[in-house]
Amino acid sequence: MSQTKPTETSVPDALSELAARAADLRQRIEQASYDYYVLDRPVISDKEYDQLFRELQDLERANPELRTADSPTLRIGAPPQSSLPKHTHLVSMLSLGNAFNDDELRQWADRLTRLVGEDAANSGYSAELKIDGAAVSLTYRGGVLVTGATRGNGIIGEDITANIRTLRDVPLRLRTAAPPDMIEIRGEVYYPFDRFEQMNEARVQAGEPVFANPRNAAAGALRQLDPAVTATRPLRFYGYSVALPPGVSLPFKTQTEVLTTLAEWGIPVAPHHVRCTSLDDVAQWAHEVETKIRAQLSFAIDGGVVKIDSLSLQDELGIVGGREPRWAIARKFAPDIAETRLNDIQVNVGRTGMLNPFAVLEPVEIGGTTVKLATLHNEGLIQKKDLRIGDIVQVKRAGEVIPQVIGPVPEKRVGDLQRWEMPKACPVCRTPVEKDEEEAATYCPNVACPGRQLEGLVHFASRGAMDIRGLSYARIEQMIAAGLIHDVADIYDLTTEKVESLERFAEKSAAQLVEAIAASKQQPLSRLLFALGIRHVGQTVAEVLARHFGSMDAIMAASMEEIADVRGVGEIIAQAVRHYLDDPSAGGLVKKLADRGLTLTEPRRAAADGALRGMTVVITGTLPTLSRAQATALVEEAGGRVTSGVSKATSFVVAGADPGSKLEKARSLGVETIDEAGLLARIGR
Ligand code: NAD
Repeated sequence: MSQTKPTETSVPDALSELAARAADLRQRIEQASYDYYVLDRPVISDKEYDQLFRELQDLERANPELRTADSPTLRIGAPPQSSLPKHTHLVSMLSLGNAFNDDELRQWADRLTRLVGEDAANSGYSAELKIDGAAVSLTYRGGVLVTGATRGNGIIGEDITANIRTLRDVPLRLRTAAPPDMIEIRGEVYYPFDRFEQMNEARVQAGEPVFANPRNAAAGALRQLDPAVTATRPLRFYGYSVALPPGVSLPFKTQTEVLTTLAEWGIPVAPHHVRCTSLDDVAQWAHEVETKIRAQLSFAIDGGVVKIDSLSLQDELGIVGGREPRWAIARKFAPDIAETRLNDIQVNVGRTGMLNPFAVLEPVEIGGTTVKLATLHNEGLIQKKDLRIGDIVQVKRAGEVIPQVIGPVPEKRVGDLQRWEMPKACPVCRTPVEKDEEEAATYCPNVACPGRQLEGLVHFASRGAMDIRGLSYARIEQMIAAGLIHDVADIYDLTTEKVESLERFAEKSAAQLVEAIAASKQQPLSRLLFALGIRHVGQTVAEVLARHFGSMDAIMAASMEEIADVRGVGEIIAQAVRHYLDDPSAGGLVKKLADRGLTLTEPRRAAADGALRGMTVVITGTLPTLSRAQATALVEEAGGRVTSGVSKATSFVVAGADPGSKLEKARSLGVETIDEAGLLARIGR
């Protein structure tokens, strides 16, 4: 007796411990589901949620007596919110089981083979993107959209018909002459990435909380009580399955056929779905989607969905636990949003002197790579998001995009954290910083700030600037470290011998680089102006200035007013240009570049004997056929110059619709005014 006693007590003890753990998991999953499905504001990450869910499923599988009737493992989504009318689905809308790796995918396929034999493998698989949006069901009667509903708890959803009607890509009538009497088309409403970012930025500006991800934004927009609000959100739809009233058989044989028919009916179907004949092909497809395709998509996915292609076999396999179809599985990818600690906010100096704050994060894996740093844009955004060092933050990596901090998780803030402020002096050269109110940006005004050196050199050599092939970021870093270059003019002092002396350079690659550097001397002034990294001088402005003034000497000699007067330039840019050129180090640099034989002039586009040679032209109002840029190019090709202000020196004004005060001024000064047709006639077109 005494020997059996410990066993008798230890079993219930262990069980009650497990029961307590199960109860705790249930409570945490329920809370997370409520935050996610009802409030559209997840508090924990999907990864954390999936881990909790998995743990509970495993616990219940190993100890069926622990499963309660209200366990979240037996339920789909969350009950519908009370304020919207209800809709009962024809056939339940299900969730999906998950496979987090290839092994789990194979285990799923093996289970099916055990159930129905080789038929499972022989049927083939439909592999589709798993769109990370909000699931909806659209009911069409006689081909006409009559109801749109959310998934809700899978049986009853919310009626969101008026909101669904505002989605431009949901057809109000199916494009088929023979629609089924009644059909439910299931699919996902999603928020395209670019629009999602814009909306979140706008919310930040308005002081509203940002959405954690496009899925929650889509779900929130769909469940608006006022359809006018939904209409302002750029939601989109992809369909992927159909349901008919019980007893009515489907007019399709395979899932592949369903997708093709939906597309024919005018329902948008997500790209990149394939029919695979083997599980190896499925695994290969999933790998390709995760590593290549995902980065190119304009919408969020969180995996692929793999379905048995044969619909009759799907029927035979049925549903498991009232929650998931046996015949389909979600092959989940690593999430591209993660939570981590914001360890520090540091500032670097960009090529124009702009101070760029960035986040130093506790390293975290997102979408397969480890992220340690993320961009924070500018001070204003940090303040609006109220990011504080020490916060737990959500970080996102969308494809190739630089990781971004979405925002803090306020619930996870511990203690009294300090608000962050931009430093008052440049972190590199200690010059007091300047604030550009209009742009919300802060600058180091020191043209010679060493902080600008690396970024400035990289920009100088880049494709849109001097286009020096082979002078990469890493090589520039190497050359700075070796003391070979300090400023952009030093690039032109590099010789094959000097370059060859660096590690990883062979004679041939050194010679090629020196050749590319020499070739870049032929780049026109417009490229050089852009390459210098003058604040506000992008490619277009550089071209406008170079064409207008023709040479670096002329720009150096021009007054601020003269620069501001150039069409498309204006005061802010003129100030930045003069600020740069008036710095003594800039004068020295330009001289060094001239001494090394760079082209400091812009080839004239104008014909020497053009019809408008020597004339100054002002263009105002909207011209009937030409854009401003086209009209300007035509004037310049004919030898004329285009300026923005009308003066006595103006040869003539070309006026279009709504010309404004310039036309009045021309009239008062007695300057000739012509229309677009008049301009074209003058230049012989
Ligand atoms: P799910 O999102 O993992 O998968 C099922 C859904 O996938 C379907 O209902 C359907 O809407 C969708 N889907 C997308 N493309 C599809 C396609 N081509 N074919 C078929 N279906 C497709 O499951 P779920 O039940 O909607 O949600 C569970 C998931 O939601 C969790 O795994 C977790 O990632 C997330 N979640 C997170 C939290 C949180 O707090 N962060 C809380 C609850 C749920």
